[in-house]
Amino acid sequence: MTRELNVALIEQAVRDLYIEACIHASPDLRAAVRAAHARESKPVAQEVLGQILQNMDLATENGLPSCQDTGLCVVFLDLGQDLHLIGGDLNDAVNRGVARACLEGRLRASSLTPLTRQNTGNNTPAVLHLRIVPGDGAHLTVAPKGFGSENMSRLKMLNPSDGEEGVKDFIVETMRLAGGKPCPPVILGVGIGGTAESCALLAKRMLLRPLGQRAEDPRLARMEEELLERINALQIGPMGLGGDTTALAVHIAELPTHIAGLPAMVNMQCHASRHREMTL
Ligand code: SF4
Repeated sequence: MTRELNVALIEQAVRDLYIEACIHASPDLRAAVRAAHARESKPVAQEVLGQILQNMDLATENGLPSCQDTGLCVVFLDLGQDLHLIGGDLNDAVNRGVARACLEGRLRASSLTPLTRQNTGNNTPAVLHLRIVPGDGAHLTVAPKGFGSENMSRLKMLNPSDGEEGVKDFIVETMRLAGGKPCPPVILGVGIGGTAESCALLAKRMLLRPLGQRAEDPRLARMEEELLERINALQIGPMGLGGDTTALAVHIAELPTHIAGLPAMVNMQCHASRHREMTL
């Protein structure tokens, strides 16, 4: 039997998750920064990591966003194929949720028309990624994305002959070029394979994986560990001030690609890594 879901519930969920994500750092992020703080050997870097932890606590205590950049609102929605949406247009509902979060949560209005630079005033439109999945549920993830880090993301269409070493060098080079600009310590979401656009989306999805969780494929898990070591050896450090902690994690996934290609994408995520999810 088909289940009905009113889009008003999706609007409310987008609003609540967007505000919550901006204010409350997730337990896995706190744990990763705490662990980095404990093992950091450089005093200035340890001080910065301590300030990041203190900032997370202050945001929660005061109900204020942990960073002034409350991002572009990226929404992932997995819709069950047996679900029937009622109550109006889904896209409008998602955007109403974003606009209400911006107003009611006092989030900074950062969304604008790219060339005229005219602000939309309420962080709409959301960047909505829709997937049809089995079942009759709706799984929603709201992931506001700051642009200090988004700007440091890179896509490269490598030659197949560049192979794994070429991809790894590209990822380390992306971090080296970014330096302190993406507000480290960062998380690198990496997509390998597919087409240019599916590779980019895969990299973005990799930022949703909980910190501390490795890729299921042991080959990719080994690659993640090696890259994390190489990136931290760059000594860019927290906020670019030097130190052992440049990245908290590298999350990699791959997709089959064309015989003539080897796309690789790094989606850079700052330490204000924010995402919240809910099933409706
Ligand atoms: S990159 Fe991240 S931490 Fe830096 S200003 Fe933007 S949201 Fe904040």
